[in-house]
Amino acid sequence: MNAFPPVPEMVAAVRSKRVAPDHFVTESLRRLEQHGGTLGAVLSLTKERAQADLAPLSARLAGGEDLPLAGVPIAIKDNICVRGTTTTCGSRILESYRPPYDATAVERLVRAGAVIVAKTNLDEFAMGSSTENSAFFPAKNPWDLARVPGGSSGGSASVVAAALVPAALGSETGGSVRQPAAFTGIAGLKPTYGRVSRYGLVAFGSSLDQIGTFARTAADAALIHAVIAGRDPRDATSSDHPVEPNQARSMDLKGLRVGIPKEGHDSAIDARIRARLSATQERLLAAGAVIRELSLPHAKYAIPTYYIVATAEASSNLARHDGMHCGVAAPPEKDLLHQYLRNRAQGFGAEVTRRILLGTFCLSSGYYDAYYERAMRVRSLLARDYRAAFEQVDVLLGPTTPTPAFKHGEKTSDPLQMYLADVLTAGANLAGVPALSIRAGHLTEGGSELPIGLQLTGPAWSENLLFRVGAAIESYWPEADRLPPFVRSQA
Ligand code: GLN
Repeated sequence: MNAFPPVPEMVAAVRSKRVAPDHFVTESLRRLEQHGGTLGAVLSLTKERAQADLAPLSARLAGGEDLPLAGVPIAIKDNICVRGTTTTCGSRILESYRPPYDATAVERLVRAGAVIVAKTNLDEFAMGSSTENSAFFPAKNPWDLARVPGGSSGGSASVVAAALVPAALGSETGGSVRQPAAFTGIAGLKPTYGRVSRYGLVAFGSSLDQIGTFARTAADAALIHAVIAGRDPRDATSSDHPVEPNQARSMDLKGLRVGIPKEGHDSAIDARIRARLSATQERLLAAGAVIRELSLPHAKYAIPTYYIVATAEASSNLARHDGMHCGVAAPPEKDLLHQYLRNRAQGFGAEVTRRILLGTFCLSSGYYDAYYERAMRVRSLLARDYRAAFEQVDVLLGPTTPTPAFKHGEKTSDPLQMYLADVLTAGANLAGVPALSIRAGHLTEGGSELPIGLQLTGPAWSENLLFRVGAAIESYWPEADRLPPFVRSQA
């Protein structure tokens, strides 16, 4: 059984004192302790922090404070800083890092009455598409423990899908919230670039990074997103574009112009996922939406462009990790330079090392023009494709991923195959536009029921529209309300 009703009902129960302020937090911690290990999804439980945030909650409620997330337990990807708890980034090099401050998104959640209960597993420094690149252990998909939950925010997706928490934060540089949301059958938002402060998110590719939200439904994700969105003076790239009040409801779709990029019907995409997209188009049409097929001509360059921009920025961002203050305890070397080299060689895993080498190469003199500068030009063309599309339609709809969740080990020996898992998601990151993955029922493979994810993309600042259209599409596939067998058997 799902221990957690929809977030607004949880908050209403806490506010009206039908349950104690710690009711859902205690239940979440119990479930995380019981199942988090099986799923490989949790790097640390943040019990002390949870107690500290719960302590003033009754008084805050009694004082009439507006607490839109009162008593809601939330898990946080372990590359987002939570004061006093370890923030490892899934890496040996930050294994003992305890940030002395909260990320702005975390601070805003706690101010709204939410309680942080766990730090979740991820691909090292958010580099990967399966959460197999964690330096600690791989995370599992609750729908089939032999499969990956996607990545890099696989731990956050896994704990929400298994109903160990009602919601979680993840991060996106190139699909790392939407792809795991699709693999685990939940909602996952990548906001407009600049919508959510990056303060306290450990940097990967700064021109792409955004903190995203996971929840069981689009409506719940909307509520969490509304709390963390908005200008933050501590992040110069955060926007002061006004945050619309949260409207966590589905909407009348009459007249809504929905674009279907033809790339979404490409034969490389699993036929069952394409069939679900077609069926969804039919339902939208029946609801009065106007469907238009169109093309994003530069979408096919999204992966090569992403892997140049992201690795170039990563090679620069990761230069700060020297292993001197926390993490690896490499044996002493003869001088500081050799110490740095040894610490980094020991502290970074294979994928992170590969990215630093690739990025350094792309930025090196003689290659900069051929790779980085050209990638930046293609990035502009891709952004233009989206702008042109949004002159014709209100939202785009397509599959989130080319396949359902794959098996552990299936792609680990071939990094290029792993990179292709992002083929439908990386475009929105490069263009800076918001995109939401929602659950759209299941397919059956090898005896397992596996979720299907569909993705809505909109122009900058259209998050509310995406949530409302998403809620409508979720209602077409109500069988997806069922929980994974793992939860059913162990409840
Ligand atoms: N899978 C992509 C990568 O490995 C995306 C990562 C992300 O969005 N953090 O870079």
